[in-house]
Amino acid sequence: MAELSEQHGGVARFFNLIGGEKRPARSSEWLDSVDPATGKVWARIPAGDAADIDEAVDAARRAFRGPWRKMPAMQRAALLRRFAELIAVHAGELARIETHDNGKPLTDTTAGDLPAVTQMFHYWAGAADKIGGETVEISPASLNYIRREPIGVVGIVIPWNSPISVFAAKAGAALAAGNTIVVKPAETASCSVLAAAQLFAEAGFPPGVVNVVGGLGTAAGDALSAHPGVGKITLTGSTATARAITRRSADAIKPLSFELGGKSANIVFADADLDAAAIGVTTMAVFTSVAGQSCIAGSRILVQDKIYDEMVARIGNIARGIRPGDPMDKACGMGPIALDRQFSKVKDYIALGRSEGGEVLFGGNSGPALFDSGSPFANGYFVEPTLFAGLTNDARICREEIFGPVACIMPFHDEEEALSIANDSTYGLACGLWTNDLKRAHRMAAEVEVGAVWVNTYRKIHWALPFGGVKDSGYGRDSGLESLRGYQQTKAVWIELG
Ligand code: NAP
Ligand code: MG
Repeated sequence: MAELSEQHGGVARFFNLIGGEKRPARSSEWLDSVDPATGKVWARIPAGDAADIDEAVDAARRAFRGPWRKMPAMQRAALLRRFAELIAVHAGELARIETHDNGKPLTDTTAGDLPAVTQMFHYWAGAADKIGGETVEISPASLNYIRREPIGVVGIVIPWNSPISVFAAKAGAALAAGNTIVVKPAETASCSVLAAAQLFAEAGFPPGVVNVVGGLGTAAGDALSAHPGVGKITLTGSTATARAITRRSADAIKPLSFELGGKSANIVFADADLDAAAIGVTTMAVFTSVAGQSCIAGSRILVQDKIYDEMVARIGNIARGIRPGDPMDKACGMGPIALDRQFSKVKDYIALGRSEGGEVLFGGNSGPALFDSGSPFANGYFVEPTLFAGLTNDARICREEIFGPVACIMPFHDEEEALSIANDSTYGLACGLWTNDLKRAHRMAAEVEVGAVWVNTYRKIHWALPFGGVKDSGYGRDSGLESLRGYQQTKAVWIELG
């Protein structure tokens, strides 16, 4: 069985995968990965840079021109299926790696991410041998057809909040379409993806089809974006990084696909089932087990004025019962913020909300204030569920993505006002609607400027449904069969018959 990591001085070391080889960075430099529950270094990853990216892109180009392109589609499908099975075999280990690395509670990684990753590779294995083009009728004097071909080498850049799941969505589709890939996971949570990468050889993938390079965004990520040998870049990350990649990729002219941040509205109408809505705007949406570190967090809670006070009371009752704590514990209600820099950012936003005149209805505390002195978690990056009231949608904390367990609650009078507040955002990722009025649900679903709408539920995503946003939340989609098109290019063939 493949060794996914190695112990070195009591700390796990993870390796790049380049051209089928498990390797440290060319520079021999390492980056620390901190366990956010304890604030302690628990692993090291290679500090890859342009030299490693060059080698990875070379290997991916050779694999694309060679074995991968020549392989029958059914065989490519079989390899993806075999990889899915290996993920299932190693699911427990990979789930623990993910939890140590980014603090996502073990119940989520075990019951959510890893089974989904297995299913995603099965889903894309199913698609790999069903790719076809089409003929177009122009004239009896010609045969015209469209081929759907892979692009070549796809560069995949992923964030720290759900690394292995985002990896699976993008890598599964890119490989099914017949591309080879170079992946750059987030510096602060690369371990699960570096570990999973070591299973591709065991699954029987030719060397170079999959390459994963750990390293900084500004080094490895930058080199990947600018590389002329990379045919496409797909990023899940922040809007600022999407802008940087757009600039850096401009000279090489390549298609881009971006899944970015959000400031999603979760809208409760007076006719809704208020018990369900109270859960739907709290534990399902923003005061989540992953501490609101989700691009689709429902961080703007809009409540119809006549039920505003009642909803504030219900939300408070639920949120006060959520205790941040050990993500390895099955009873953990909310894990830590994944990294130090993000922890500071969330605390800064809480301070900003106060200085903007917001009233903290509950929460606001973080770090040592939440634990007994001497607790191993007192140095972890924990924040309590925090709700601001008394601000309008113009406040910065109602406009900017916080990416933590912090929300604003705002009243609205009618459907028109709810819609105008929801759409008054530079982002456009998702929206929740809580109502029992079917006509209203459909009207609103059509009018909100987002990529995903939930009615009487929230934060439900599935590999069979396209996922992505509009406006500053990006463009292009992952998941769903349609997303395969994003990893293909067309070629028109004209054969003269006359
Ligand atoms: P980020 O800072 O944009 O980082 C994302 C990835 O881009 C990381 O691998 C990062 O590397 C890399 N990167 C940074 N600067 C780069 C550059 N100049 N060139 C190339 N690559 C670069 O985002 P994050 O903080 O990891 O993740 C949080 C963000 O992701 C939030 O905005 C969230 O909403 C968004 N997100 C969106 C979705 C979605 O599907 N819409 C899902 C999850 C998260 P380093 O980390 O090593 O610097
Ligand atoms: Mg970490």
